[in-house]
Amino acid sequence: MKKSSKGKELQDKLSYKKKNFWKIVSEKEREDAFVFADEYCAFLDEAKTERLSVELAEQILKTRKFVHLDADAPKNAPGYYRINRDKNITIFRTGKKDISNGCNLIVAHIDAPRVDLKQVPLSEDETTQLGIMLTHYYGSIRKYQWMSIPLALYGVVIKEDGTRIDISIGDNDGDPVFTFADLLPHLAKDYNNKKISEAIDADKLQLLFGSIPFPDDDIKDNVKLNCLNILYEKYGITEEDLISAEIEIVPAFSSKDVGIDASMVGAYGQDDRVCSYTALRALLDGEEPILPSIVFLADKEEIGSEGNTGARSDFILDFIADIIDFQGYDSSKILRKVLTKTNILSGDVTAAINPSFKDVHEKQNAPLLGYGVCLTKFTGSKGKSGSNDAHPEFIAKLRALFNSHNINWQVGELGKVDVGGGGTIAKFMAEHNAEVIDCGTPLLAMHSPFEISSKGDIYSTYKAYKIFFEHYGG
Ligand code: MN
Ligand code: MN
Repeated sequence: MKKSSKGKELQDKLSYKKKNFWKIVSEKEREDAFVFADEYCAFLDEAKTERLSVELAEQILKTRKFVHLDADAPKNAPGYYRINRDKNITIFRTGKKDISNGCNLIVAHIDAPRVDLKQVPLSEDETTQLGIMLTHYYGSIRKYQWMSIPLALYGVVIKEDGTRIDISIGDNDGDPVFTFADLLPHLAKDYNNKKISEAIDADKLQLLFGSIPFPDDDIKDNVKLNCLNILYEKYGITEEDLISAEIEIVPAFSSKDVGIDASMVGAYGQDDRVCSYTALRALLDGEEPILPSIVFLADKEEIGSEGNTGARSDFILDFIADIIDFQGYDSSKILRKVLTKTNILSGDVTAAINPSFKDVHEKQNAPLLGYGVCLTKFTGSKGKSGSNDAHPEFIAKLRALFNSHNINWQVGELGKVDVGGGGTIAKFMAEHNAEVIDCGTPLLAMHSPFEISSKGDIYSTYKAYKIFFEHYGG
């Protein structure tokens, strides 16, 4: 056997090296990662919108005997949850210590970039007499990626009397799909000379919706009328009903295994349902935690965490205050103290190095796919502006926790300095004076209709979250 050199020994002792998940785990753990990924994919395929994510989360919580938090909720339930406007949910698991000691919280978001229908969407193009839906995109998308792929419609229509009609067209067997039809290359000379960011204007995202005219030669816009008639016959809705509707256009395909070794997941909405699902499972699957655990699945992250369903709303604070009161304390006296003693992982995805676009990263500090859950000290842009910059004291404790529990983790930065940047929920949670750091799953092709993750990283994220809930602060 070759004796290792002195330099090699010293290098092993002194150097930081991230580790490849597949190289360091046992056969058993490799299998567990694949099984977990299948369960995650089943969630992704069902939960294509924030509302559906909340619905599915609630179903899972009920199987674990979690109950809705209100004044007469049973005191001995394993946990409690509250849903806000069907679009975000917060979940509490009782710990060995009560809430006056603070808690461990993971926040992630269940909205994802997409294209929404406008309020008066249906239109008939005069020249082509095709029925189209006018749209307004949501979040930051590269519009060309959404052209000429099969798309589904999901959402709700609220009638004047308050009745809710659920819409889901495109993912069920036998459903038609929709699309934004792209330009053929033969006639694309002028468009090919445009910048990518300008080649597809927002008003080119016109959803192809129908083409058969209503059989009446005396009227105009027969195709539009026929489309309206189909909607009326199928859902009992009129054009005005669409004004009080939220209908989202998302990819009409399910998640897929990616790679000859099936080691990756390709799917829509992994930003940030990957951290949402792993956080929920971590809260439910772990041993009884020392400190109480909270998972907050927020809406509206992709547009700045705004609105009363976004992370900047008082919803999460009200929930924690109610838990404090429920456990017999006075939230008007101790809420702020509890928040100060709260530790938060902002579970959000980060950008792994893409082999085709390595130039946007500085490779020593960029995460790699398959190298574990990623701790991101700061986000933001232009000199960390708009960032929560996590404190080394907090990072040291997490590092120790992850290392002592064999969690595959890495550290990462979102792209080269001044190449771009981005923000997460972290900074909004930090405003409550809690300890916060970004900790989530690296992705390739983030915000595309087909985002890529590693099954090893999904599993490492789940394990990291579980260990955080079980042991942090104990
Ligand atoms: Mn995100
Ligand atoms: Mn995002």
